[in-house]
Amino acid sequence: MRLLVTGGAGFIGSHYVRAVLAGAYPDHDADRVTVLDKLGYAGNRANLPEHHPRLDFVHGDVLDLPLLVDVLPGHDAVVHFAAESHVDRSIADAAEFVRTNVEGTHNVLEAGRRTGVARIVHVSTDEVYGSVETGGSPEEAALRPNSPYAASKAGADLIARAYWRTHGLDVSITRCANNYGPYQHVEKLVPLFVTNLIEGRPVPLYGDGANVREWVHVDDHCRAIDLVLTRGAAGQIYNVGGEAHTNLAVTERLLELAGAGSAMVQRVPDRLGHDRRYCVDDTKIRDRLGYAPRIPFETGLAETFAWYRDNPAWWKPLKQDEQSS
Ligand code: NAD
Repeated sequence: MRLLVTGGAGFIGSHYVRAVLAGAYPDHDADRVTVLDKLGYAGNRANLPEHHPRLDFVHGDVLDLPLLVDVLPGHDAVVHFAAESHVDRSIADAAEFVRTNVEGTHNVLEAGRRTGVARIVHVSTDEVYGSVETGGSPEEAALRPNSPYAASKAGADLIARAYWRTHGLDVSITRCANNYGPYQHVEKLVPLFVTNLIEGRPVPLYGDGANVREWVHVDDHCRAIDLVLTRGAAGQIYNVGGEAHTNLAVTERLLELAGAGSAMVQRVPDRLGHDRRYCVDDTKIRDRLGYAPRIPFETGLAETFAWYRDNPAWWKPLKQDEQSS
């Protein structure tokens, strides 16, 4: 199989590509991969092998439809990760989120339709369901996105569904909870807190810290995506849940790993419109595709902490960019 991976130089996309190239997924351990990424602030060519006989890299933008139509022929499937992904940035300015996440996803689908690509997986998020007080959102729950980021992803999901329904495009959607793991940009909660603690600086905790998120190791998420790619059905949506923890509990665990005390927690005003709790019902992917997460949060978080501690050369430059912006 020949795969086109958009956003493959980012956190989750690069993990997926490294896993495919390492033969982690038996169904396509000889696959060729083309990564298409615009190398925005969150994309890093160094997240991928510099040279690999089965990897090609295209420096390009999903907003460039002619480029997609040019690159896609010869590929059997697309895994679409490319997106603006940080909620706080979408609150400061949503325009790029609407362009990349909605128009960019439309372009990927439209290029797939025009070139007759056999299969597309659109990688979405649990945030499209909005905050839920109790229970877990099933795939057919109403979409009530609250942040501009979540709204742009929900828009993309609906366009993907329409391309399946109208044009018969073989597209599936995944909606996963919060990911953590190595190579995640330092703007996100886990790497921000880990790298601050490593540098002996306080961690900024939003509001009362009682917001609940489900946490999934990036390796489990990528395995779920691959199962959907190879065994999922057209037009279907698959939730991927994780272990639920409050932001405060995650912070306390990171303080423990760093050997730091609660004095390192700096309470900051809550994020605008901050969703209280996300939770998905992921019975469908477990029952129909045999998915089960393998990495307990406790173990995965400790390994992630160790990765950042051991790889300052990867994150220090990003931290400097964040501080000067
Ligand atoms: P990321 O920000 O680390 O990576 C995004 C990648 O997309 C970067 O390499 C960036 O350069 C690229 N990109 C951005 N705009 C582009 C454009 N116009 N054209 C081409 N490339 C472009 O994000 P991530 O955390 O790896 O998330 C990947 C996908 O997974 C996103 O679609 C996101 O919505 C989804 N997702 C993320 C999480 C999470 O917790 N991080 C959870 C569920 C779903």
